Amino acid sequence: MGRLIDGKQIAAQIRAELASEVEELTARGKRPPCLAVIWVGEDPASATYVRAKGKACQKIGMNFELHHLEEGISEKDLLKLIEELNNREEIDAMLVQLPLPKHISEKKVIEAIAPNKDADGFHPYNLGRLLIGAPTFIPCTPAGILELLKRSQIETVGKEVVVIGRSNIVGKPIAALLMQKNTGNATVTVCHTATKNLTFHTKRADILIVAAGQPKMIKAEMVKDGAVIIDVGIHRTEAGLCGDVDFKEVEPKVAAITPVPGGVGPMTVAMLLKNTVQAYKIRNNIVL
Ligand code: NAD
Repeated sequence: MGRLIDGKQIAAQIRAELASEVEELTARGKRPPCLAVIWVGEDPASATYVRAKGKACQKIGMNFELHHLEEGISEKDLLKLIEELNNREEIDAMLVQLPLPKHISEKKVIEAIAPNKDADGFHPYNLGRLLIGAPTFIPCTPAGILELLKRSQIETVGKEVVVIGRSNIVGKPIAALLMQKNTGNATVTVCHTATKNLTFHTKRADILIVAAGQPKMIKAEMVKDGAVIIDVGIHRTEAGLCGDVDFKEVEPKVAAITPVPGGVGPMTVAMLLKNTVQAYKIRNNIVL
């Protein structure tokens, strides 16, 4: 039976640590950190995520500012709002909820956010710093995976890590971080849609990170006995939420595994809060 890596509990621990940092700041007479979120349109999944982010901020005593814009807003007006938020002193970090309507360029929007307020860590400047191993805002899902591994005492040094997926928000950054000497020091293989014989790679993994967006694609015969499995996928099905890993099949074979829900998901929001507090501290020259 695989040990459950309890993302819900670890995320709660991180939120509690951040709440006491915020409390210390306000006790010193400082204002709490503030996250601004821009949400365009009415996508229901985005609605859930935005609500969860707002609630999470408020629960730890942080300020949250929501800018809900209509679907038809022009790219120019959206960029103007980002510029305003870049210039407002009391906004520490911001993000634009994705996906955006088709008439708006995601690339332009991400590049308009000031790198020192980039809560999601998607700006090319921050991703570049991540690649060279410099301190930066790490995208929230990869940052959450690192914390899950660290706080579950899972050794990465010298391990064979296999990542499935090469997206800019999960696959590429987690592969770079785990390869980097001070944040993983592992031997990393990245698989994607053109990979031949996926099982050959997954079978070799001491740590398998699956971010492919394919429900239950990882079966028992694809994993090594005693491996650690991090399942990033989230899919809504009639039977409830499931991940990219066939949990029922895989769990008995492995040493440790993240469930869906309750694994990587809760960590993503916790790391967003952490990035916002980090942005606040850097902008205000505060060491706690
Ligand atoms: P994406 O669609 O941008 O990228 C998927 C990647 O997987 C691609 O690079 C593709 O090459 C690869 N891939 C797809 N099918 C494959 C296959 N059969 N074999 C090998 N490689 C394959 O997705 P993403 O944004 O990286 O997200 C991945 C999954 O993680 C989605 O289910 C998403 O909902 C979920 N997600 C969860 C969180 C969280 O907080 N838990 C955060 C972000 C994304």
